Amino acid sequence: MTSIDVPLARSWITRYAELVDEHADELTELDSAIGDADHGINMRRGMQAVLDAIDGPDQLDALFKQVSLTTLSKIGGTAGPLYGTFFLRLATALGPVRTASNDEFSAALQQAVEGVGQRGKSEPGEKTMLDALAPAVEGFKVRVGEGAELPEAARAAFEAAEVGRDSTKEMLARKGRASYLGERSIGHIDPGATSATYLFQALAEAV
Ligand code: ADP
Ligand code: MG
Repeated sequence: MTSIDVPLARSWITRYAELVDEHADELTELDSAIGDADHGINMRRGMQAVLDAIDGPDQLDALFKQVSLTTLSKIGGTAGPLYGTFFLRLATALGPVRTASNDEFSAALQQAVEGVGQRGKSEPGEKTMLDALAPAVEGFKVRVGEGAELPEAARAAFEAAEVGRDSTKEMLARKGRASYLGERSIGHIDPGATSATYLFQALAEAV
C-alpha cells in the first residue's frame, strides 16, 4: 500500500469521527482540568457534522475541503479553526487528484501541521495539539522516507502522537485557555493533543 485514495481518506475521517464520539467524555474531562470543559462536546458536534459532508467528493482536495469547512464552522472554540486549517492545507497540498503517493501525502501532512502552527502562532513544547501533530507527521515522514508502506507509516505516526500527547502532561501551557493557569497547568494532559492523537489512531486503523 503506497498511496492514499478517496475511499481510504473517507474511512480515515469516518473512523476519526467514531473515535471522537467514543472518547468525547474523556476529552471534555481533560478540558475541564485546564480549560472550559467543552473540547469533547465541540469535537463530537463537529465530527458528526463532517460525516454528512464527506459522501459526495470524489477527489482528495474536495474531500478535505469539506472536512475543513465543517470543522471550522461546527467545532468552534479554538480547536475548530485549527483543525479547519489542518484540513484546508492538506486539501491544497494534495490538489484535485483521486490518489496521492505516500510521499505526496507525507508532504501534505507537513504543510497541514505547519498551517496549524502559523494559525495558532504556536510551536511544539507549548502544550497544545501541536505536541501530538508534529511528532506524528515527523514519524510518518521518516518511515515513508525509509520506504515503509502506508500501514507501517501510519502506525509510526500514531505511536509518535501518543508519546507527544503524554509529554504534554509535564509541560507548562503557553497557548490558549490553559496558559491562563500558568504553573497549575502542569500535571494534566492537553485535550487538543489527545484529540489529535485520535486522528492518527484513526489513520492507523483505517489503513
Ligand atoms: P477552547 O480553548 O476555545 O475552549 P477547545 O477546548 O475546543 O477550545 O480546544 C482547546 C485545545 O486547543 C487545547 O487543548 C490546545 O490543544 C488547542 N490550542 C489552543 N490554543 C492553541 C494554539 N495557539 N495553537 C495550537 N493549539 C492550540
Ligand atoms: Mg475548551
